[in-house]
Amino acid sequence: MMNPSKTYVAIGGIRCPSCGAGEIRPGAFDVDVGAATQGCTCLSCGATWRDCYELVGFDQLEVPVPDRELLTQLDDVVAQRDLAIGLLEQVAPLALARFHAEWSRPPRPQAT
Ligand SMILES: [Zn+2]
Repeated sequence: MMNPSKTYVAIGGIRCPSCGAGEIRPGAFDVDVGAATQGCTCLSCGATWRDCYELVGFDQLEVPVPDRELLTQLDDVVAQRDLAIGLLEQVAPLALARFHAEWSRPPRPQAT
């Protein structure tokens, strides 16, 4: 059961809640969803306890911006592809129709 000691919280947990000494050895954090605990040991009286932390928010959010250079290159590739298809439609509509027919077939079984 958590002890919500206002005094202990107000001083930032820097003194032993049993004897008041300031020599506290902190242990590892145990992080759970929305909360964390940290085992502590008083080096003066030997008391042990857990500090209880709650998620209160976040800061320093950074969202990566899309790579504009890459997006521009991608747009160029798509534009060139569309241009090539447009040219083929004009100069070789039959070849283009065969190409589409060929590539819309299900894949051939592998030769053994
Ligand atoms: Zn102590």
